[in-house]
Amino acid sequence: MIKIIFINTLRRVRFAPSPTGPLHVGGLRTALFNYLFAKRTGGSFILRIEDTDKRREVAGAEKYIIDALNWCGIFPDERPGTKSAFGPYRQSERNHIYSEEIKKLIDSGHAYYAFDSEEELASCRSECEKRGETFIYNFESRLALKNSLSMSKGEVTGLLKEGKGHVVRFLVPKNKNINTVDVIRGESNINSGLLDDKVLMKADGTPTYHFANVVDDHLMKITHVIRGEEWLPSLAIHFLLYEAFGWKRPSFAHLPLILNPNGKGKLSKRSGEKGGFPVFPIRWEGETKLTGFKEYGILPAGLVNYLTTLGWSPKEGSGILSLEELTKMFQLKSVVSGGANFDLEKLKWFNHKHIQVASNEFLVDKLQALNDSARKTEKKRLTNAVGMVKERANTVSELWELLKYLFLDPKEYDEKSLKKIKKDGLDKICSEIISLCENTDDPDSFVDSLKIWGDKNGFGAGQIMMTTRTILVGGLSGIDLQKIISFIGLEVVSKRVVAFSKMNI
Ligand code: GLU
Repeated sequence: MIKIIFINTLRRVRFAPSPTGPLHVGGLRTALFNYLFAKRTGGSFILRIEDTDKRREVAGAEKYIIDALNWCGIFPDERPGTKSAFGPYRQSERNHIYSEEIKKLIDSGHAYYAFDSEEELASCRSECEKRGETFIYNFESRLALKNSLSMSKGEVTGLLKEGKGHVVRFLVPKNKNINTVDVIRGESNINSGLLDDKVLMKADGTPTYHFANVVDDHLMKITHVIRGEEWLPSLAIHFLLYEAFGWKRPSFAHLPLILNPNGKGKLSKRSGEKGGFPVFPIRWEGETKLTGFKEYGILPAGLVNYLTTLGWSPKEGSGILSLEELTKMFQLKSVVSGGANFDLEKLKWFNHKHIQVASNEFLVDKLQALNDSARKTEKKRLTNAVGMVKERANTVSELWELLKYLFLDPKEYDEKSLKKIKKDGLDKICSEIISLCENTDDPDSFVDSLKIWGDKNGFGAGQIMMTTRTILVGGLSGIDLQKIISFIGLEVVSKRVVAFSKMNI
């Protein structure tokens, strides 16, 4: 028998955020799609920190990114701190690599030194503006500027020796048709005449995004670059860079944007604030404190499940899915190119479903982490209570609102409910509840006994139940009345009725 073995190149993907602030939910979705794609075939998910622009770096951002990913159950296989031949994983620790690699492009004539000062470039720009044109540093203008293409070799060597400030620019070929391919968007064409000679190495000797990104993707053996749509305009330059180095390109996939709920523009912090929801996974403790979905009461499984539906949909009827199940189904090629509106209600729906399948113990841990009063509540009883109310909860935080009357006496009573129960005989019902609490030895049939008494004394079951509920809960909400009474016990029932009666409502 002949055995056919398919050898699949092991997928290596990376999530490459810049540590400029907390990770936005859009970035999290990018990380998630990368992770799902890699894990489907047992590949590697790499976290690379793109911190080449030190001025934009924000303290705590890298830690936040890692914490947020971990909270979602995403643990990078390689990340800052991992010892491997592919590291280090912070670009600021890889300068020696970029210095080596840039030499290759200069030597092969694909990159050149440029000595133009900021002022000189600014004056070129304004000259062009006066003529109604836009200044582009490219094949048309470069020979009239100060660079190693327009100057003699001796001049260039002299300037470099004396330490004259310079950048290294990419020599974008003239009039070249660049045919780019994207897994999600297919092929497109762009003429190189539209591109400028991008700076690859800055005057301070550090690389720019384009250069470091391509060099690292190559050296880290990245097979698929999956990133946000906002990076699509960089694709042509990246294609040219791979070609200039003579390197095999990875596949590229640009994910659709996550849009504001009204479909207008990229999901922003401001639209979150307006709609009363966060756009970050967990709390950000930076200068401005920001709440995350975690604090809002969303479970990581709910958020992950919902985020996968933004731009991709699992097979019909697959229902609620865990990270592990999603891993088995994810298909990069079925990601769509159109932006997806963020929909809080849909997220809550997913969260609700995940709350139903979560264990009560797990939910109590989450609830106690979020809510001070819940933290002070005895765990075992809280676990039972959570089990009784969770079918009504969309978020973990709502659990407390749904069950607090099982532990705390009502501080106030809902006006509308009071109006309904303020009828002749209210005092009589209250006295009966108090006396039944003293005389019955079966708390589990309390409501039935009360109804029988009501029947004999001219009170309908509705009135009896509404009155008891309002007094015990503070309003006409809550779980089954008999369950409430059995849970809180007759002593508490009696105490609450006495307190209510004293209030002269
Ligand atoms: N550093 C870029 C970012 O902040 C990475 C873009 C890419 O994945 O190529 O998103």
